[in-house]
Amino acid sequence: QAKSAGRRTVIFFDDGMQKQADKRLKLHNALRGALANDELLLYYQPQHMISTGELVGAEALVRWQPEGKALVSPTEFIPIAEESDLIIDIGMWVLEQSCKQMAKWQKEGVLLPELSVNVSAKQFHHPEFADRVEELMTQYHIEGSMLNLEVTESVVLGHAEDTIRKMAQLKEMGLRFSIDDFGAGYSSLSYLKRLPVDELKIDRSFIRDIPRDSRDMAIVDAVLAMANHLGFTVTAEGVETRQQLAFLKQQGCTFYQGYLSSKAITAEALERYIQRFQGKIG
Ligand code: C2E
Ligand code: MG
Ligand code: MG
Ligand code: MG
Repeated sequence: QAKSAGRRTVIFFDDGMQKQADKRLKLHNALRGALANDELLLYYQPQHMISTGELVGAEALVRWQPEGKALVSPTEFIPIAEESDLIIDIGMWVLEQSCKQMAKWQKEGVLLPELSVNVSAKQFHHPEFADRVEELMTQYHIEGSMLNLEVTESVVLGHAEDTIRKMAQLKEMGLRFSIDDFGAGYSSLSYLKRLPVDELKIDRSFIRDIPRDSRDMAIVDAVLAMANHLGFTVTAEGVETRQQLAFLKQQGCTFYQGYLSSKAITAEALERYIQRFQGKIG
């Protein structure tokens, strides 16, 4: 214990911490292998317009399927990948796979208007990011309007000018931007008036306890009013109940995604979902 170890002794690691570090290193190495061995795959969560129920797009969410083991959630491996440049390779794999899939769907007449792709700060700030996106669009014949990039508030930290410039450049190619997990980060509101983003995604933590928590309802209400004044659309994430959807509809939120309509599903399952949907609504 650090307390009894004497004034000049600084203890960085105890046994438990060492084990934690070992585990992270193991996971990191296995993850490097995952990329090389083609063990990553994308799931897709449908996104809907609240007023009409119409399917407006999907979010690509990465999964890891180690051979002979259970599917691993990105909440387990993305933070570890983000500790090194591995997140750049994983993120670019996700982006390429997303373009490939959109091209395939377009060719097969599967009508998915837009795919949202999560982009990590490190990946976004890589000097070749914008060029790489453009190359992928050319290679797979993807229109910019088919892609929406989700970044978190942390993307601006220490890089405000670079962020604005790069976003503007990508928007000229037709892409759109969302601020993911809005409200859950550390950034101030001042960047919002400068960033050329199109959409805010209200973090799931503010939706979860609606309608039990009136303070969450007040926050959601305020975010919607602010977004409206600033000209952003809003997607609510993590909508699980009819009451939550009814509240969001009443407050004028435009889009939602959540278990109420569907979890993230495989490409094949999304194709069936879209077909069923076209039958019902179209
Ligand atoms: P996110 O981008 O905010 O994605 C939404 C997460 O909430 C997804 O978790 C989704 O499955 C989950 N979710 C959606 N609706 C509901 C709901 O109604 N209830 C509950 N309880 N959960 C819901 P998932 O797929 O585990 O992804 C977790 C996070 O991992 C993502 O959060 C994102 O930050 C990160 N991630 C996933 N794929 C990628 C990727 O390709 N690149 C990067 N950089 N990060 C990714
Ligand atoms: Mg996201
Ligand atoms: Mg999110
Ligand atoms: Mg989230």
